Amino acid sequence: MGLENGVERVVIVGAGPAGIACAWRLAQLGLEPLLLEKETFPRDKVCGDALSGKVLSLLRKLGGEPLLADLLQQPFVYPVEHLDFISGKGRRVRLSFPPRHGYPQGCVAPRYAFDTWLLSHLPAGVRLRSSFELRKVERRGQIWYLTSTTGELVKTYFVVGADGVSSRIAPIVWDYHRLSRPIVYPAVRGYLEGKPPESLELYFRKPYLPGYLWRFPAGKHQLNVGVGLPTSALKNARLSLRAHLREIFPQLHSVQGHGIPVSLENRPLTTPGCALIGDAAGLADPLTGEGIGNALLSGIRLAEALAKVPFGDWPLADWEALYTKPLYNELRRELRITRFFHRIAQKEARVEAILSFLSRFSYATKPLLRWYGVKG
Ligand SMILES: Cc1cc2nc3c(=O)[nH]c(=O)nc-3n(C[C@H](O)[C@H](O)[C@H](O)COP(=O)(O)OP(=O)(O)OC[C@H]3O[C@@H](n4cnc5c(N)ncnc54)[C@H](O)[C@@H]3O)c2cc1C
Repeated sequence: MGLENGVERVVIVGAGPAGIACAWRLAQLGLEPLLLEKETFPRDKVCGDALSGKVLSLLRKLGGEPLLADLLQQPFVYPVEHLDFISGKGRRVRLSFPPRHGYPQGCVAPRYAFDTWLLSHLPAGVRLRSSFELRKVERRGQIWYLTSTTGELVKTYFVVGADGVSSRIAPIVWDYHRLSRPIVYPAVRGYLEGKPPESLELYFRKPYLPGYLWRFPAGKHQLNVGVGLPTSALKNARLSLRAHLREIFPQLHSVQGHGIPVSLENRPLTTPGCALIGDAAGLADPLTGEGIGNALLSGIRLAEALAKVPFGDWPLADWEALYTKPLYNELRRELRITRFFHRIAQKEARVEAILSFLSRFSYATKPLLRWYGVKG
């Protein structure tokens, strides 16, 4: 099912959570995609390493109960039960998500180990080609020509951009729709030995707003700490994120930076024969920077859209109607909340007011928990 006259039906570029989920679901639906990845695994990805309830429930949908049970018994997984929003004045609002049916509803898992684990469970039918760094993308007629940095050529009828924040495929979609590039927040993270906090802590305070500083438990004796904020706030505060983080946490190691493409507006995600998923599509949560959940979801939904249309009808299919619109529809409530809070988080006084409100009326935190994929 993968090849048609020597040309691949679907090629996915990038084996992060988005690309893996898309390849996984396509294989389940009888299409046999080729997955191209520039690195060889295990490879790291700069991240806060937090896996939300949404991530865990999507993994369960992909691979069933055994997959989730397998993940949660891995030594690199550290379960968490609380997420704390902390204001400049030290006001703390706690969202709790206790284990359900014996499973945690949130955890921290270093990406170095998590992505490798995920990849190792891919079903038969997915062909992975590592060390293929895409450099050039061209379309001639209905065929895409993908050339690697070493000159290797792969041809396909449909190309999926799952190659993250510096995607080579995304500019094709933006140019086609005459769009500017999506907003990307610079972020830096590092690891710290010591007693971990009991919750995922997000510090919403100056000078990071509407970004934040985080302290996450990353094991029994380790923390993942980091900071992410808009470029404008960075310039105003004249901050060097690495230097700033090292100043607060002098013992920090493995300090690395990466961009978070935050979803501040609904954007077209396809052109004929091409679609974007995950960070390449700019789908990270604008408030928390969480992007693994939407990476998995968009990968799964794109695979389902592709499988719905007979292969012969692909050239004429309206992928915006089949994939982009239903995806944004599914995310509508969640994005409405996170974009609203992101706007609130521009000003410190508003952050204080909303956290004061939420600490007094805790029932109002229920929708927030649902957006994290937490079941009551
Ligand atoms: C500092 C920081 C902290 C974060 N914290 C969290 C968090 O705690 N929880 C959370 O849910 N999200 C977090 N995020 C966001 C999360 O990391 C991303 O949203 C998520 O990794 C997106 O997955 P993806 O598969 O779309 O992209 P990626 O994970 O970036 O995967 C892209 C893949 O494509 C490959 N690739 C790239 N270019 C090419 C090329 N030219 N050819 C071939 N392959 C290529 C890469 O090697 C990589 O394997 C954080 C992000 C940052 C920067």
